[in-house]
Amino acid sequence: MTDSRPCQLHPQSMCPAFGSLRVLTRLEGSHPVMATDTGCLYGLTFVTHFYGARKSILAAHLGTAELMAGEVVENTRAAIEVAAQEPGCQLIPVVSLCVAETAGLPEEMLPTRVGDAEVVLVRVPAYAIHSHPEAKDVALAALLRRLGEPEGGERDAKTVVLLGEVFPADPLAIDGLLRRIGVEATIALPGRSIDDMKRAARAGALAPLHPFYKETMAAFRSWDIPIVGGAPVGMSGTVSWLKAIGSLLRLDLEQVNRVAEEERAQAEAIIKAQPLAGRVIVSGYEGTELAYARLLAEAGAEVPYVSTSIAADPLTLPDEMWLRNNGTKEIVYRKSLEDDVAALDKYPPDLVLGTTPFCAIAKERGIPAVYFTNQLASRPLFLSGGMAATIGFIQQMINRSERYEWIQTFFEEEDFVDQGEVPLG
Ligand code: SF4
Repeated sequence: MTDSRPCQLHPQSMCPAFGSLRVLTRLEGSHPVMATDTGCLYGLTFVTHFYGARKSILAAHLGTAELMAGEVVENTRAAIEVAAQEPGCQLIPVVSLCVAETAGLPEEMLPTRVGDAEVVLVRVPAYAIHSHPEAKDVALAALLRRLGEPEGGERDAKTVVLLGEVFPADPLAIDGLLRRIGVEATIALPGRSIDDMKRAARAGALAPLHPFYKETMAAFRSWDIPIVGGAPVGMSGTVSWLKAIGSLLRLDLEQVNRVAEEERAQAEAIIKAQPLAGRVIVSGYEGTELAYARLLAEAGAEVPYVSTSIAADPLTLPDEMWLRNNGTKEIVYRKSLEDDVAALDKYPPDLVLGTTPFCAIAKERGIPAVYFTNQLASRPLFLSGGMAATIGFIQQMINRSERYEWIQTFFEEEDFVDQGEVPLG
């Protein structure tokens, strides 16, 4: 039997381990030690700084000689001692990557505490982790299992943990709305505070804003903390999310319904004022693509194809079902670049929200395209405010199709160089 899927032999992602480093380096008081070989170290420190770490990562020197001599543990222990000397160090995550995992790094041979710092082993064999979001999950779950304090005081029954890295204004807007329905506090993870990790283990509910945090959710389940499905994205998604939190936390349901209906009315007014028109393809890494596509479809766009790097998950099911009932023809989990390109041929779009290589291919064809993660990182997405920002931006992008077509024609002119129209420098 032949495989009908397109060739998938080209690289699909950079090393996924950077997702874990991003989470671990951004914590205040955390000084990660990386157990890996020099090649990984170079690439990963570069990417980590690019994503906002602002601190050095210490690493045991592990070249061929050290690996052959069995010095993985010894050199990692030495790096931990140096990390512990950093001013204000409270946490040393030891990130064990492909090489150290293959060579062997037994947890019992590492200290659990040095000076004031907890030492937490985070195993990230990147060859076994398919995407950088899943590496974020592995890192966060390892920290929570060690640092979470479920017994450290009374359960904060009306505190909600918001799980997922989002645009900075979004957790504030969500917190404001949740307080109106009776929630007393929110904790945003992954974040910068070690104390938040400790407190999170006593929260009343966990609300994953992104669906890929499987291990993290397992940690919360082990503390008997209930999990809210869906996310406050789009009109119907936000209303059902608010109602789910209201019933999980046993809040005043009249008040919850009143606030939810106000949100619905605001979202309806936004859609009425600026309905979307056009066909959009959505492709990304983190599973949020489905909720995003739902928002676009609610606003009037046609979204025939959605793909993501994560595997199918019960948390994406409500969005998947909604999309399938509202015109989306294909939803691909664990997608490849080749799946996305095939969709470009099948459903010629007015706009692509995609991964970097996919956007490059769309632009070569004169189709407006924007990197999905940047789109998420640079403007609000959640609640009616996020809906307004998203719809406005998407319509602007769709309206740029003429400009993209002009650029494509310009570069496709066969003899524009010969005619001396472009200086070759
Ligand atoms: S060897 Fe593993 S950790 Fe190192 S760069 Fe490659 S995938 Fe990443």
